[in-house]
Amino acid sequence: MAGRSVLLTERLVLRPFRKDDAEAMFLNWTSDENVARYCRWYAHENISITEKLLKMYIDDAASETSYRWAITLNGHDEPIGCIDVVQFRENSVPEVGYVLSRRHWGQGLMTEALGAVTEELFRCGFSKIFACHAVDNPASGRVMEKCGMVYTHREWIQKKFNSDELCEVKCYGIEKSSRKKENPMTVRELQDNILKLKKETNTAILAHCYQAREITEIADFVGDSYKLSVDAKGVSADNILFCGVHFMAETAKMLSPQKRVYLAAKNAGCPMAEQMEPEMIKALREAEPDRKVVAYINTTAALKTVCDVCVTSSSALKIVRAMDCDKLLFIPDCNLGDYIRQQCPEKDIKLLNGGCPTHARVTVKEVQTAKAEHPEALFLVHPECTPKVVALADYVGSTTGIMDFAKKSDAKEFIIGTENSIVEHLQYDCPEKKFYPVTKDLVCHNMKLTTLPDVYNSLLSIAGRGGESFEIIMDDELIGSARKCIDEMIRLGG
Ligand code: SF4
Repeated sequence: MAGRSVLLTERLVLRPFRKDDAEAMFLNWTSDENVARYCRWYAHENISITEKLLKMYIDDAASETSYRWAITLNGHDEPIGCIDVVQFRENSVPEVGYVLSRRHWGQGLMTEALGAVTEELFRCGFSKIFACHAVDNPASGRVMEKCGMVYTHREWIQKKFNSDELCEVKCYGIEKSSRKKENPMTVRELQDNILKLKKETNTAILAHCYQAREITEIADFVGDSYKLSVDAKGVSADNILFCGVHFMAETAKMLSPQKRVYLAAKNAGCPMAEQMEPEMIKALREAEPDRKVVAYINTTAALKTVCDVCVTSSSALKIVRAMDCDKLLFIPDCNLGDYIRQQCPEKDIKLLNGGCPTHARVTVKEVQTAKAEHPEALFLVHPECTPKVVALADYVGSTTGIMDFAKKSDAKEFIIGTENSIVEHLQYDCPEKKFYPVTKDLVCHNMKLTTLPDVYNSLLSIAGRGGESFEIIMDDELIGSARKCIDEMIRLGG
């Protein structure tokens, strides 16, 4: 494989890693704690992490036993990431690792690249390969795992690094034979099969925009919670397969009760949706009967039954202003509620302590650091972040609002203060602009539980050909009672 550029897949090119790639990819990394995390992969030679990093990325890393490759989008020169293929000892099993560039072009694509490199190594005659990646990239690990390419090999890595800290790193051994037995498809093959199964089963796929790129690419509808609610109502297919979290699939079921609605990943829930019990809200209603309850759509169906209207982050302000009541209780997100309260001072809005653990963990310091690194960039933030973080923004809005603003703006650089998939989607849509995550940790792991193989397996099951699917079952009484506030949201939200 050494020394040549190849078209790796239809959209990815593999070429030798150059010195200037190091600058493009790793600028400012030496001050980033993620460097340390990443470099633990390479800490086995007891070389100081930083020295090792600098040596690897500033020197030409290619040698007889170690190759670094840049992965670029076909037609682009800038790397979206790099892949290392390392053989630490002659005749030992090769190890494959990958790193995304700072610009976050896309984990899904890197998974695709990793799969293709693995194929190439198998073609070169290796029958077994180790692959490493950090667990903060859970989706790619699960893709590999579910494709039957991998088995978990934690003991190996713990022994190798002799450190408990390395629980942060997952390592997989890939065996050609076991891979063949199971599901040997690449990302592209999976996508093609999904498209065929979708047609065969008359299923519409709805994907939230926090889903990975390889999933949004095969979806019929992509959007934030509000857009998907409206889309779900108009779907003509017999089945809906939802790639998102549980409350979203529940909402789709309420809006299309005659259809069969499935959630692609069984355990994908939203922690915020389950923060409040209906009994607690009922008690508050009884205490103040003239106060109407506004529920963020991120709530369970049971909780919606005791609320008056739902809102999403894109529709909240419009709906709150349109309501014929001035006394409101806004649940569960107190950060979004606080933002609405500031925009709508004419209303008396009470809040409770609840919120999105993903957005609420962004800190003022992280924003300041990102702004210092990218002084020309505008900071666009989701109102689920804390008021102190929101106060630093150049634009505050829903996911859709942030995307629209960035696309229409004359500015060329943006720091994105919402789930990091949006950085990836925007970078695809506007390749001439630059998008930076406000922090690498702004990842909703619940959203990332869904993988392409989950979608494939769900459709196989819907087609009655194996696989496994998770249908949303709700009784008519619950649907009728919870749906009222969704209908009210669509009526007032327009
Ligand atoms: S980003 Fe926050 S609100 Fe959205 S699904 Fe994840 S935890 Fe729930």
